[in-house]
Parts: sequence; C-alpha cells; structure tokens
Amino acid sequence: MGDKLDRIIVVDVEATCWQGKPPAGQENEIIEIGICVVDINSGQAIEKDSILVKPERSQVSEFCTQLTTLTQSQVDKGISFAEACLLLRKNYSTHQRVWASYGEYDKRQFERQCLARSIKYPFGRKHINVKNLLAIINAIPQEVGMARALEILNLPLEGTHHRGGDDAWNIGRILSRLLCQAREGNNGRSVRS
Ligand code: AMP
Ligand code: MG
Repeated sequence: MGDKLDRIIVVDVEATCWQGKPPAGQENEIIEIGICVVDINSGQAIEKDSILVKPERSQVSEFCTQLTTLTQSQVDKGISFAEACLLLRKNYSTHQRVWASYGEYDKRQFERQCLARSIKYPFGRKHINVKNLLAIINAIPQEVGMARALEILNLPLEGTHHRGGDDAWNIGRILSRLLCQAREGNNGRSVRS
C-alpha cells in the first residue's frame, strides 16, 4: 500500500465550543469536517466537501452557533464521528495521502477524539501545517490566522469564515498559491507537466 502523491487532502474541523471551558459533563467534539482536494500536478484546489458530524457528548451552544453558524438541528442530521472517519478513508484515501490543515488544532482534535473512542485514525503520518509553511516561505516573524494569510496573498476570503467546508477551501487556495509560487520558474507547473 504505497503512498499516493497525486492529491493533498486539506481538512478543517469545527467543534462544539463555549466561551470558556466546556460545561460539566460535556467536551469539545467535531461537528463539521471540511475538505478541500488540492491536485498536486496542477497545484489547483479542485474539490470541496463538508461532512456534518453529530456530537455524542456535547451540545451546540449559542456561542458555537454564533461562531460557526452551525445549529444543533443541523448537526443532528449529521453522521457519527466513527462513520465520518470511515468516509474519509473510503472517499479520499486519507490514510494513503498527504493531508494538510491550518495549524495543529485539527490534527490534535482528530488524535484526541480517535484515541478517546478507540476509533481508527483516518490519516497517514504525512501532514502539512499550512500556517507554519506560509509563515516560513514569506519570512513572517510569527504565524498568522487564516484570514490574515489570505490578505497577505491578496486572495479574497470565499464563503463563511469558521465553516469547515469554506475554511478548508480557503486553506486549499492558500496551499495552491504556495505551490504555484514555488513552481514559478516552471511557469507555475510542476516538473511533471
Ligand atoms: P476555526 O477553524 O477557526 O473555525 O476553528 C475551529 C474550532 O475551534 C471552532 O469550531 C471552535 O470549536 C474552536 N474555536 C475557534 N475560535 C474559537 C473561539 N474564539 N472561542 C472558542 N472556540 C473557538
Ligand atoms: Mg474552521
């Protein structure tokens, strides 16, 4: 089972949250998995998806709805976290591909939730932290948030910030720009094309 270097799977999760700590008996749980597929050869973001996940140990608070626009009734129609992990493997071969996210939060939340529920981790070991990569490539002294990163690259923020699907798409566009910039000497193309 060799690794596929055809696509990078960009992931952005939204989770149940509160102004401060979770209320007694509740914990942060993934409620949306946003996905953007970046084609490595063309360097382009080519596909966008959103999986809604029904939380099992927490409720969507008013604060969470204000941040993400997601409501309890929306996520009630979602699939279980275990099913979502299987879907990632089945539809995106996330266990065989390089995956990416903005910062380490999404990766840690997946690790935490899989461990706590004995669910098979859906990703392989190859992960790109786009937040870190962008700061290093542009020699920014500190890592910046996604909205600021788009400004730096002169890219408009598309869709709704803090919705997983839209965040993943925008992170995919940031990664796409970094890939294309790195290939400028080859007219923006990879050496394969
Ligand atoms: P993001 O990808 O920036 O939308 O954030 C992912 C998740 O982090 C959100 O769904 C929340 O669970 C949590 N989060 C982000 N910003 C905040 C915040 N200001 N306060 C509490 N939780 C937050
Ligand atoms: Mg997000």
